[in-house]
Amino acid sequence: MQLYNSLSHKKEEFIPREPGKVSMYTCGPTVYHFAHIGNLRSYIMEDILEKYLRFTGLDVKRVMNITDVGHLTSDGDTGDDKMLKGAKREHKTVMEIAKFYTDAFFADCAKLNIKTPDVVVPATTYIDEFIKVISSLMEKGYAYEAGGNIYFDTSKLDKYYVFGDFNEEDLAVGVREGVEEDGNKRNKADFVLWFTKSKFDDQELKWESPWGLGYPGWHIECSCISMKNLGEYLDIHCGGIDNAFPHHTNEIAQSEAYLGHEWCSYWFHVHHLNTNSGKMSKSSGEFLTVSLLEEKGYDPLVYRFFCLQSHYRKSLVFSWENLDNAKTIFDKLIAKIAPLTAEAAGEIDQAEFDRLKTQFDEALGNDLNTAMGITALYDVLKSKANAATKLALMGEFDKVLGLDLIKKAQEKNAANEAPAADIPAEVLELVEQRKAARKEKDFALADQLRDKIAALGYEVKETRQGTEINKL
Ligand SMILES: [Zn+2]
Repeated sequence: MQLYNSLSHKKEEFIPREPGKVSMYTCGPTVYHFAHIGNLRSYIMEDILEKYLRFTGLDVKRVMNITDVGHLTSDGDTGDDKMLKGAKREHKTVMEIAKFYTDAFFADCAKLNIKTPDVVVPATTYIDEFIKVISSLMEKGYAYEAGGNIYFDTSKLDKYYVFGDFNEEDLAVGVREGVEEDGNKRNKADFVLWFTKSKFDDQELKWESPWGLGYPGWHIECSCISMKNLGEYLDIHCGGIDNAFPHHTNEIAQSEAYLGHEWCSYWFHVHHLNTNSGKMSKSSGEFLTVSLLEEKGYDPLVYRFFCLQSHYRKSLVFSWENLDNAKTIFDKLIAKIAPLTAEAAGEIDQAEFDRLKTQFDEALGNDLNTAMGITALYDVLKSKANAATKLALMGEFDKVLGLDLIKKAQEKNAANEAPAADIPAEVLELVEQRKAARKEKDFALADQLRDKIAALGYEVKETRQGTEINKL
């Protein structure tokens, strides 16, 4: 497939290092609060990438961390400790907060049909591994101790700003936000590998280390968890675009300094979800979660569909109106698939199946063009292929799209067939008489019966899915 690589700033042919196998790493959530749907956009698109790679026959191993220690409110090691902040807010321990929000995260993912990665590692379970790698960085001269903390020395690298589009000016952002600069750093871009002097008196989680009692910085966890589970070469690293700098930049710095060679070949970044007032965050505006979508009556998969309608490298604007539009289109799509599930007898036309599948494959294979993938789905519905072929293709595409297309179509059929419990028997009887009249092509009688039904307060309609009865 063609995949855009943030390192080279262009689309490249994706070639895994080991033929047939893909190693994939995803930055997981910091579990101090619910994920907002902007974070979840990244996880949806990463899920599509994983599922598409599997669709093409590759064997994917995917690893994700859970940040339950060490992440400060600024990604550049300043501000409050996010986990402590969550614990204080809810009067719980840090580990209770971590457990609760880890479960909440995976519950949201399940509702959005996001597959759980093969390996999930909470950072607090890998402390020995962090200490091992930091010790090695110290020995190799890439790290130094100052003011009780261990820092990575970015001046030791030939090139630190590997993504090119971020530079020293971005580091000034933290200062502009009124956060004090760390005087222990030798270079502005240096970052913490291990804290021993916590500025937070009530730091709950601390571990013994060669440098004293302390806890790891945020960036080191991803490098260590990836290298330990996926080896010293990584095919694809994914995350939201806001993680490219400083987080991913720091991951590359410390991993390559430790390994002594290049580490990850392809960097996959998903762009922001914005609201009309700017980038979505937990602190500004309405806190949009999967639960809020459900409270407002939206199926979480409508949000997944909404995300798939646009490209992952474009910012996407969320509004309730935009989500409503996605819902309308999604409902219509399911209504088009529903009759297929009822009449899908017959043989699959293999030539037609292959032709239409190729269209979908080409769309997704072009830097994961999900919008074109959905167009390919409509092309199937419009095609002259028989119902069995169409339905088989829906099932095939849905392995990647994850929209429960066939299940929803079947549910729609079942809902149409089952008489609603609160419809009076008198109305149901008239509906049956009308069905019989229509079968006999006695449309005058059918119309009279429809009027009688209307007089009782109900509307009867014939649709492709069957007879619909609605209260007037
Ligand atoms: Zn990470």
